[in-house]
Amino acid sequence: MAESVELPGRLAILPFRNKVLLPGAFIRIRCTSQSSVKLVEQELWQREEKGLIGILPVQDAAETTSMDSMLSQGVGSESCERSSNAQVSTSDAHKVDGKNPSEVIHWHNRGVAARALHLSRGVEKPSGRVTYIVVLEGLCRFNIEELNTRGPYCTAKISPLEMTKSEMEQVEQDPDFVTLSRQFKAIAMELIYILEQKQKTGGRIKVLLETLPFHKLADIFVASFEISFEEQLCMLDSVDPKVRLSKATELVDRHLQSIRVAEKITQKVEGQLSKSQKEYLLRQQMRAIKEELGDNDDDEDDLASLERKMQNAGMPSNIWKHAQRELRRLKKMQPQQPGYNSSRVYLDLLADLPWQKASEEQEMDLKAAKDHLDCDHYGLVKIKQRIFEYLAVRKLKPDARGPVLCFVGPPGVGKTSLASSIAAALGRKFIRISLGGVKDEADIRGHRRTYIGSMPGRLIDGLKRVGVCNPVMLLDEIDKTGSDVRGDPASALLEVLDPEQNKSFNDHYLNVPFDLSKVIFVATANRMQPIPPPLLDRMEVIELPGYTAEEKLRIAMQHLIPRVLDQHGLSSAFLQIPEDMVKLVIQRYTREAGVRNLERNLAALARAAAVRVAEREQAVSVSKDVHKITSPLLDNRLAEGAEMEMEVIPIGVNNHEISNAFRIASPLVVDEAMLEKILGPPRFDDREAADRVATPGVSVGLVWTAFGGEVQFVEATSVVGNGELHLTGQLGDVIKESAQIALTWVRARVADLKLAAAEETDLLQGKDIHIHFPAGAVPKDGPSAGVTLVTALVSLFSQKNVRADTAMTGEMTLRGLVLPVGGVKDKVLAAHRYGIKRVILPERNLKDLVEVPAAVLSSLEILVAKRMEDVLEHAFDGGYPWRQHQHSKL
Ligand code: ADP
Repeated sequence: MAESVELPGRLAILPFRNKVLLPGAFIRIRCTSQSSVKLVEQELWQREEKGLIGILPVQDAAETTSMDSMLSQGVGSESCERSSNAQVSTSDAHKVDGKNPSEVIHWHNRGVAARALHLSRGVEKPSGRVTYIVVLEGLCRFNIEELNTRGPYCTAKISPLEMTKSEMEQVEQDPDFVTLSRQFKAIAMELIYILEQKQKTGGRIKVLLETLPFHKLADIFVASFEISFEEQLCMLDSVDPKVRLSKATELVDRHLQSIRVAEKITQKVEGQLSKSQKEYLLRQQMRAIKEELGDNDDDEDDLASLERKMQNAGMPSNIWKHAQRELRRLKKMQPQQPGYNSSRVYLDLLADLPWQKASEEQEMDLKAAKDHLDCDHYGLVKIKQRIFEYLAVRKLKPDARGPVLCFVGPPGVGKTSLASSIAAALGRKFIRISLGGVKDEADIRGHRRTYIGSMPGRLIDGLKRVGVCNPVMLLDEIDKTGSDVRGDPASALLEVLDPEQNKSFNDHYLNVPFDLSKVIFVATANRMQPIPPPLLDRMEVIELPGYTAEEKLRIAMQHLIPRVLDQHGLSSAFLQIPEDMVKLVIQRYTREAGVRNLERNLAALARAAAVRVAEREQAVSVSKDVHKITSPLLDNRLAEGAEMEMEVIPIGVNNHEISNAFRIASPLVVDEAMLEKILGPPRFDDREAADRVATPGVSVGLVWTAFGGEVQFVEATSVVGNGELHLTGQLGDVIKESAQIALTWVRARVADLKLAAAEETDLLQGKDIHIHFPAGAVPKDGPSAGVTLVTALVSLFSQKNVRADTAMTGEMTLRGLVLPVGGVKDKVLAAHRYGIKRVILPERNLKDLVEVPAAVLSSLEILVAKRMEDVLEHAFDGGYPWRQHQHSKL
C-alpha cells in the first residue's frame, strides 16, 4: 500500500451505486457498460503506466427498482455496467435522468482514488461485446470540486483530503488520539484473536496491526465488515483521524459482539445437533446391523410384552423398582450381547412369580373335607383324625401358623396322596418338591446370578410353576437331603419352615426377598433318624407304619382297582379281579409295607386286559356270521361292527367306548393261571422261611429299612481254619461288632450250652466261622441283629435247626442281656407279611405293640425275651438246646 499518493487535479470517475470503496480496501469489478468499458480502456488498459481513477458513491434518491437492482451489486465481482449506464443516463449531474424523469440519483461529494492492480479483458460471445474485470485498491480520499458528466464517462476536478505527513505527526501527539488508538488496538486485537481461533487466518492482519498507522487501519478494518451504506458513507466522510478511529472502534466492537452472539448460538445449536445426530446415526447403524443379521423388531415387542407382564405381576414396590432397573439395563443391550439372555430369563422369572396371586380360599366345609379324606383313603383312622383337627384349626383361624405336618413312613403308604387331599380340602393348589438326593444348598436357595447357568432354587421354581403364592407345598423325602462341602440344605430348609423367617425368604438367584408365609408346607420322609433334630423340631411327625395284608386287600378293592381300571379306560364290566386273586397278588407278588407294587401289579393286569379288548374288538368287527345268529341287540351291534371295520379305535384312547360297546361280552375274570401268565411265577411264598432254615446255622431276624420292616435271614457256617470270623453281606461297623459280641458270648458259654464235649473248650479250634447276611447286595447295619446272630451260631454249633415260624429282633450285651430296639411295629408287620407265626421281642419293646393293628397281633404269637437264654428257649423246637441236652441226659 502506498504511503502517500500524489493525486492529479482531475480524475476519471467510476460511480459505485450504494457502495463505498474505502482506502486500503480491495475490490474486483466487472465492467460491461459502454461508459465503464470506455473508461477502463482509456484510463487503464491503454496506458502503459496504470493510472488512477476515482470511485464515487452514488445513491438512489427515490426507490426505483430498476436502478436499485442495477447498481446494488456494485461491490462484488459483478458489475458496474449499469452503474455506468446510470451515470450516463444521469450525466447531467444531480439532474433528472433523461429517459425516466422520476429517477433521481445523488452523487456523493467525496470519493476515493483507486489504482488498478489487475486488468483482464474478455469478449462476450456471440454479441462480441468487450468486457473488463478490474481489481482495484482504494488509496486515499478526495473531494469533488467539479463533476463533469458529459463525454463517454464522467470526470471530475478533485482536491485531496488526506493529511500531510507533518499534520499527521501532530495529530499522533494528541492524547485523545493516543487513547483512541489504544482502544482501537485493543478491540482490534480481540477481533483478530477470535478470527484466529475460527479461521486461523489472523497472522497477516496481526502484521498489519503492527506496521500500519491506526487511521489507515481503521479504514481497512471497517472495509471488511458488512455495514450499511450510510455507515460506509459516514466512514468515508470521517476525514479527521480521531473521528475515524472512534467510528471504527465502535464498528469493530459491534462486529465483535455480533460474532460472539453468533458463536454462542452456533455452539448451542451444534451441541444439540451433534447429540441428536449422534443418536440418530447410532440408531441407523443398529437398524442396519439388525437387518443384516435378520433380526427384526420382535425383540422390541418381546420386551414390551415382558414389561406388561411385569406390570401385572403385582410385585411389591421395592422389587418393582429393582425389576425396572434390570429392564432398563436389558433394553440397552443387544440380544447377542453376553448377559442379555440371563437378564431376560431373570426378568421372566420375576414377572412369572406369584407375588400376590393366590387361590381363593373358600369357606371350608369340614364335613366335605372329612368325606373327601375318607373317600380317598382307606383306614388310617388316627392319621385322618389328626389331619381333620389340623383343618379345623385352619377353618377357625385361617392365618394360623399351624405346625408343619411331616408324614413318616415307608413308600406307597399314602403320604403324598394325603398331602394332596389336604390341598383339595383347603381349595388350594398342590405342588410337590422332591428333595431326594439334594446335597447342595443351592438346590434350595438357588445359585447366584454371577454363575453361568445359574438357576433359582427348587422352592422358587416350584412357586413359579404353581403360579399362586398360597399353595400346599409338599417337601417330599425331606430325610434324603444330605450335607457336604456344598453346604447344608437342611439349614436352608430351617429358614423355609420357620414362620418367623420365611416371610422374607432369600433365594440367591432371585436376590430379592420372597414371602413364603402363605405357603402351607407338608413334608414326607421314610425315616425319622436322618432328619436333623432342629428341622424335626419344627415339624409335627405323623407316622404311617404300613398296611397289613387285610388292609391292603381293602385298599386294593376299594381304591386301587377302580382307579387302575379307569386309568386304562376299562370298567368292571370288562375286567374283574376277584378278592382271592388280589390276596394272591399281595402274598405272592408283593411284600412291601405300602401298596405301590400292588398297584403296579394291578396295572399290569389291566394292561393285559386292555390288549384283549382290542383283540376281541377286531374279532367282532370281521366275523359277521357271529352276529347273524344273535339277538336284535346284537343286530344293532352288527351295524356298529360294520362301521368299525372302517374305523380303528386306538387302544387306550377311547377304551370307555370299547368296554361299553362290548358290555354284552362276558367280563374277563382274572384267575390264578392268568396271574402267572401276566405277572410271572410267584416271587414269594410262605414256604420260603421253612426252606431256608432247613439246615442248622440259619436264623430268622427282623430288621428295619427305609422300605419298612423286613425279614432278614442270618447264615453261619464253619470251615477248617484257624479261628477267624468272616462276615459278608455289606455290613456296617455296628453289625460287625454285634457279630463279634455274639461269637464271644457263645464261646464263653460253650460249657453251659453244652455245645461241645467237655474236653474241647475252644469252639474255634481248627475252624473259621463265616457269617453271611443275604441279600448280599443290600447294605445293612444296626445293633438289632444281636439275638439273631447268637441264635444262628448256637444252631450251628449244636447242629439243631431253628424254628422256621419264629423271627426275632433285639440288641444283645456281652453279658447276654437283651436290649430294646426301634421299628418294632414295622418289624412285626413284616413278620406278618412273611407268614411268620411267632416273634421274639425284647421285653422292653412290649409297649410298642399297642401301635400294631389288632388283626395282626391276633395272628401272631409274641414271645418276650429278657436274656439271651430266653431267646434261645423260644427259637428252638422243644426249647433251649442245652436244656434239651440236660433232658436227654436225665
Ligand atoms: P407315598 O407318598 O407314601 O410313597 P403315595 O401317596 O404315592 O405313597 O401312595 C401310593 C399309592 O397308594 C397312591 O395311588 C395312593 O392313592 C395309594 N394309597 C396309599 N394308601 C392308601 C389308602 N389308605 N387308601 C387308598 N389309597 C391309598
